[in-house]
Amino acid sequence: MSDYFTLLDSGKKKVAWCTSVGPAELLRSFGFEVFFPENHGALLGATRTAMDFIPEAIKCGYSGHICSYTTADIGSYLKKESPLQTHYGVEGVPKPDIIAYNTNQCREVEDWFTFYADEFNCPIVGIQPPRYLDEVTQDEIDLVVKQMKKMIPVCEKVSGRKFNLEKFKKTVKLSKEATLLWQKVLKTSTAKNAPISFFDGTIHMGPIVVLRGTQRAKDYYTLLLAELEENVKNNIGFIPKAKTRIFWEGMPIWGKLRMMSDLFTDNDSAVVASTYCSSWVFDKFDENDPWNSTARAYTEIFINRSDKAKEKMLAEWLKEYEIDGIVFHDTKTCFNNSNAKFGMPQRLQKITGVPFLTIEGDLCDLRFFSEGQSITKVETFLEQLEDIKV
Ligand code: SF4
Repeated sequence: MSDYFTLLDSGKKKVAWCTSVGPAELLRSFGFEVFFPENHGALLGATRTAMDFIPEAIKCGYSGHICSYTTADIGSYLKKESPLQTHYGVEGVPKPDIIAYNTNQCREVEDWFTFYADEFNCPIVGIQPPRYLDEVTQDEIDLVVKQMKKMIPVCEKVSGRKFNLEKFKKTVKLSKEATLLWQKVLKTSTAKNAPISFFDGTIHMGPIVVLRGTQRAKDYYTLLLAELEENVKNNIGFIPKAKTRIFWEGMPIWGKLRMMSDLFTDNDSAVVASTYCSSWVFDKFDENDPWNSTARAYTEIFINRSDKAKEKMLAEWLKEYEIDGIVFHDTKTCFNNSNAKFGMPQRLQKITGVPFLTIEGDLCDLRFFSEGQSITKVETFLEQLEDIKV
């Protein structure tokens, strides 16, 4: 990650900003180094600096109730301060040559990225796929492919390079290989003694978010997978003996990762899987059909689907990971990644029989998180699950 931020800072390559589940492969095929503002948002959350910056964005008219990645990131820009300076010794966030977004996750990214396009007087391109679908058909894919192809002339102009199909295919291939390795990494936790937790996954997912489409991401997950498979073979879990297995639904509470991780492990509970970490599994990537396959992979993602489709995916994960209970994180400032607001926990329990708990919190803004209340809720829930299992 340090090399990645140093390269971005060096000015050696033109920089494209991209949403976390945006068209990174296409951008890389033009030789851009790709920067992901959401990754910076997560860093602001994890370092608990977000609350220093959010008020700056509020002063500019952004509500404190919208995406706290957006408000923390804009506030950090306005204050000209970033943990990147202290953690990686770089000047800060790199200046964009082009900005690209995909509203497959939310409309907020469009507002957020447009702010910067105006600030930097920078070209901006967007993909707006249909949302909330039960099934994704070829009609939707055709539309997304058309939108992606509209990016080509802008990318050519900014990069000074012609679109090269072979380079695009090569990047998609590298991305596919890394994402399939990441999928295998996550699936090691289907083992009885899971070798990697959701909380560890939120750190190890760094390369699949910011370096997909590169050899480095592939190398990283090759190494990680080998270690985890070895642990599975030797029956070594991340905690000695879990009494319960938990699925985490929703965003991480970045500023409380350690606290939440300790809370579960101290109660002999293993949080073995999540929708969040699985969001970067794009198993539909196919270098032989790069346009259709990337359009499909980015349109079919969990966050972009109907409740019905989400419940089907969740039911499969709960079964696959042999889950005893599911925790829904009702994220105050991310409506899009909070699935506890319209009865999904209850419906899912009806289908699967898996009990649920909802906790309130936020990705970055810790004013919306009550530590005491969450501890009580989680401990009570885990006790109940243990009673059910006896
Ligand atoms: S999905 Fe949620 S957290 Fe992510 S950018 Fe959109 S509103 Fe923010």
